[in-house]
Amino acid sequence: MRTLILSDIHANLPALEAVITDAGHVDRTWCLGDLVGYGPEPNECIELINQQPGLSCVLGNHDSAVVEKININTFNGDAKVALIWQKKMLGNTNKKFLMSLNEVEFINNVMLVHGSPRNPVWEYILNSEIARKNFKILQSEMCLTGHSHIPGIFTLQIDQSIEFQQPRSRWSGDISCKHILNPGSVGQPRDRDSRASYVIFDDEDQSWHFHRVEYDISKVQHRIIESGLPFSLAHRLSLGF
Ligand code: ZN
Repeated sequence: MRTLILSDIHANLPALEAVITDAGHVDRTWCLGDLVGYGPEPNECIELINQQPGLSCVLGNHDSAVVEKININTFNGDAKVALIWQKKMLGNTNKKFLMSLNEVEFINNVMLVHGSPRNPVWEYILNSEIARKNFKILQSEMCLTGHSHIPGIFTLQIDQSIEFQQPRSRWSGDISCKHILNPGSVGQPRDRDSRASYVIFDDEDQSWHFHRVEYDISKVQHRIIESGLPFSLAHRLSLGF
């Protein structure tokens, strides 16, 4: 069975379409939140995600803000401007979908969250120290997270040290260790690689495949500007940051 794992779409429809096409046939889709925020097409992205097979999806911080589960004033600058605009644009069915999302999902022995096991919506796992604190409370062997927009895997090794790696293709973990895996961001990568990022999990041989795919960045940049959203949100997509 092939599972598409994706996160942080951020209303970037051309990037999401490119990922879905590049992934090909999948049996399941696990989305780690932030369907909205920053980009010009929140409705279209939510609708396309809902068409994907075997969908499981968790709530991201931007999703939470746009449906007022958390205060939009928690955000600042461009993020806040985009959320206020999206809140006006979002259709009722799509709002209801975001309202229905849980902060945590478990599928077999895999935990799905947007942020981290101890703070599912907000915490960024950006270094080994934060990863270690989360491994302490992680009950499952594998946790999937988004939020940082940086693809990679933290592993709690047998000797209790923490390893971080960024595989460029296939990766298969030691099943006696715990792992926190981030597939990177579809719609706003921040690792200086502007291509959309995602992972395919093949449960037959328990392998995880990291992918990057190019998409038409200028198309979404035009839509950002046409929508009256801040220019910097368009510009950063070319930088992959
Ligand atoms: Zn995000």
